[in-house]
Amino acid sequence: VLLLSGITANIDLGSNLPLKSSVDPNQNITFSLKALNLNGRFIFHDIHHAAKDFGNYHHYLPSAILRPKTVSDIATTIKHVFQMGPSLNLTVAARGHGHALQGQAQAPDGVVIDMEALKGQQLRIHNGKVPYLDVPGGELWINVLQECLKYGLAPKSWTDYLYLTVGGTLSNAGISGQAFRHGPQISNVHQLEIVTGKGEVVTCSEKQNADLFYGVLGGLGQFGIITRARISLEKAPKMVKWIRVLYSNFSVFAKDQELLISSEKTFDYIEGFVIINRTGILNNWRSSFNPQDPLQASYFRSDGRTLFCLELTKNYDSEETDIMNQEVESLLSQLSYIPSTLFTSEVTYLEFLDRVHDSEMKLRSKGLWEIPHPWLNLLIPRTQIHNFAQEVFGSILKDHSSGPILIYPLNKSKWDNRTSAVTPDENIFYLVAFLSSALPSSGFDMLGHLLNKNKRILDFCERANIGMKQYLPHYTTPKDWQAHFGSQWETFVQRKSSYDPMAILAPMHRIFQRQY
Ligand code: FAD
Repeated sequence: VLLLSGITANIDLGSNLPLKSSVDPNQNITFSLKALNLNGRFIFHDIHHAAKDFGNYHHYLPSAILRPKTVSDIATTIKHVFQMGPSLNLTVAARGHGHALQGQAQAPDGVVIDMEALKGQQLRIHNGKVPYLDVPGGELWINVLQECLKYGLAPKSWTDYLYLTVGGTLSNAGISGQAFRHGPQISNVHQLEIVTGKGEVVTCSEKQNADLFYGVLGGLGQFGIITRARISLEKAPKMVKWIRVLYSNFSVFAKDQELLISSEKTFDYIEGFVIINRTGILNNWRSSFNPQDPLQASYFRSDGRTLFCLELTKNYDSEETDIMNQEVESLLSQLSYIPSTLFTSEVTYLEFLDRVHDSEMKLRSKGLWEIPHPWLNLLIPRTQIHNFAQEVFGSILKDHSSGPILIYPLNKSKWDNRTSAVTPDENIFYLVAFLSSALPSSGFDMLGHLLNKNKRILDFCERANIGMKQYLPHYTTPKDWQAHFGSQWETFVQRKSSYDPMAILAPMHRIFQRQY
């Protein structure tokens, strides 16, 4: 029987039960962990940073941080925790770059594994007919990109921001403007190496241990720790034509976005965002990168109207500039944006993909990066997006937003339904991301105010039966988790019982309760 934070699911754990421990239940955790024979080491002091993440409003101190040097350090630690059962009473969380929002990479009184300690020398590129990359789970995507570019190659699917780890984004999905064509990052993985919640090191792929492979992709770290991933590559373009156009009518904007993601001949990247007010750097941090023209789109005189910005790119090599310009012109001629609002610029592929980093540096220098971020990411079915936009942009957030709001459609056919990722039940759905920052302000509970706005949006979705699914989901009750997974719930529970039967891993999602 596996306890699911209060509810009970009947599962035969069979041979998954841990060995009975004869160790004194009060044995000191420090002593026990220190006794392990590792290449890396545990840290027990100055570990407060492991109780912090980008969200910056959930903080849980662990007992120790593991800085692994080898995969076997991770396996040895988890196997020890698994076998010691109640006498150690520990949970384990992998921490990538700590950009979770509600403490998901934390382990109260447990062990946090610093996955970045494993990165580095083992990044290997296979430049054959079908190129791919073998990369440690703790590697940052920015390093992946820079290394691949040396071979004229690059992964196909990205996130908007590259200072995230491979294991961290593959545990969710990894979505950006290329996903309409290539699927999320989890649709571009050939193979994984996993340390399960029993401390076993398992290689898995579509052909080998497929259930674990698909379970881990989008699996919120529940079934194992990704120590290595094999990722599909393509020839990297050298340059990017970066385009922004504006709309004042949401229906026209959405129609154009859907037309573009459904066409064979189209742009290489398609996103969009909502311009509710233009209150400077916080609302524009995603776009405050240097090229003047696309930037101007964020500052366009809106005269109080809510505007919708369509963001597009076309990849090209310098010798193909003329052809690329003709293609862009032809594609743009099919769209119905406000004619005077075409903003374009040409940048390198690296500059485009790393566009958010400059803004991060600016915000950091003003002390505006390490503040609370009550972000809300939703996937909204196409048939409900107008209803949603009318209520949310026309009423709940009519006059003010506290950060960028992204909105762009995705094709469900590019998502593999064998993975753990959860999406709405329609062929096209929209990612809507409310990227709010709670500015420090005296006498005003900004964080509370923003969380309340999020709640109003979620309540509306419930009331109006929108069929929404959360991306980077955050729930606190088992009933809500079960509703989130819907028909995938049984498979999710079954996988947990197979790969992490004691519910040791990633405890702060609060899906399952630690077992002994
Ligand atoms: P962490 O925060 O360290 O961990 C997140 C979760 O993954 C935890 O549950 C953790 O235990 C688990 N985990 C971490 N590493 C591993 C591993 N190796 N194996 C198994 N589980 C692991 N997402 C998008 O899809 N698209 C975007 O464009 C995008 N932009 C973002 C921009 C910013 C500024 C931020 C803060 C987040 C953004 N995200 C985006 C969300 C991001 O993908 C997730 O928060 C991701 O989990 C962060 O990666 P991380 O390495 O910081 O993971």
